[in-house]
Amino acid sequence: MHRRKAFVTGVSGQDGAYLAQFLLNKDYEVHGLVRWDSCMGKSDELARFEALGLDISRVHLHFGDLIDAQNITALIKEIQPEEIYNLAAMSQVAVSFDTPASAIEINTKGVLAVLEAVRLLDMEERVRIYQASSSEMFGSAAAPQNEETPMHPCSPYGAAKLAAYWLVKTYRDSYGIHASNGILFNHESPVRGEDFVTRKITRAVVEIEKGRCELLMLGNLDSVRDWGHARDYVAGMWAMLQQNQPGDYVLATGEAKTVREFVTRAFSHIGVRIGWRGCGIDEVGFDKKTGRTLVQVDPALFRPKDVNYLLGDASKAKAVLGWQPECYFDDLISEMMNADRQEYYNCKQNRQEDTAAFLWANRA
Ligand code: NAP
Repeated sequence: MHRRKAFVTGVSGQDGAYLAQFLLNKDYEVHGLVRWDSCMGKSDELARFEALGLDISRVHLHFGDLIDAQNITALIKEIQPEEIYNLAAMSQVAVSFDTPASAIEINTKGVLAVLEAVRLLDMEERVRIYQASSSEMFGSAAAPQNEETPMHPCSPYGAAKLAAYWLVKTYRDSYGIHASNGILFNHESPVRGEDFVTRKITRAVVEIEKGRCELLMLGNLDSVRDWGHARDYVAGMWAMLQQNQPGDYVLATGEAKTVREFVTRAFSHIGVRIGWRGCGIDEVGFDKKTGRTLVQVDPALFRPKDVNYLLGDASKAKAVLGWQPECYFDDLISEMMNADRQEYYNCKQNRQEDTAAFLWANRA
């Protein structure tokens, strides 16, 4: 029987790992693009596969780089996928202010490389493309945001993603390519990168619990986000490519929470009730029982321009794709906290305690 082939760029990332797992469960032949240094040495990002219990030998890995158009064309020609999921990106909004040219190079020109490859290889009618668009494209637009909301990105990341979004629409309309934009609101998981605020919080709370860290330092506590679970969102990506017609879809939970609420909930998981006092950069979070300060604001962690309020309306995805999330805010945080506590415990079990702390602090 014919096994459908999918090519996933960014397969070593959070969504890539969940998507690979999802597609393998559907008996796809999964091909993944990895940068050579993603799976070398101690920064072994493919550890995410292991964390999800995924046998890496089941994924066909191809070395490459999204910014190398010839490389992407050659791989698509060789693999002949029926579905391409373009997840690779410079995905850190804050970092995009420091490296805006990289954001454009990877997040915009990289998408162009995929679209042009499909066109130049005359694969328009044989392949379907998913583009990882982002709620950051909405930027300062009024909430709740849906597919009709005008977009006002507030970062190089958001602007680069918006240009890519329009390239996808343009190639769809001009060449009849089945290319869809998934406009995804924030989605997290136990394998979320540690440089993202949610994982930074859950890890720090575990370290504070274990006495390895004194304080959690954060930027804008008032930022409102709509946080879902990556596992639910990859199912939505797949559903978009199973439609007869391509389209653009918001995926979101419809629940708005502040960073402050995320912190409060994460601490409650270890039995600490957090109180808040002060405001702006002087605000602190403290243990209501002991009075000890556990959270402080660091102005250096503010973005030059922040997106204050992202809340998605995924009605279209629900109506057309039959998609809706299964995991919401509280369960998401519980799962992340449990995983980080377990990881800490595993480190401790396997080695002497000092070694464990060293590894915890320095792990990839
Ligand atoms: P992630 O964990 O940061 O993964 C990004 C992946 O892209 C990594 O595997 C990275 O590989 C790869 N990559 C970066 N530059 C590349 C290049 N030049 N060539 C090839 N691969 C490259 O991000 P994620 O959370 O899985 O997100 C997946 C996609 O969805 C991204 O496009 C992101 O912008 C978008 N998105 C995410 C969210 C969210 O909340 N998670 C929301 C909306 C949209 P290395 O390991 O080599 O760095």
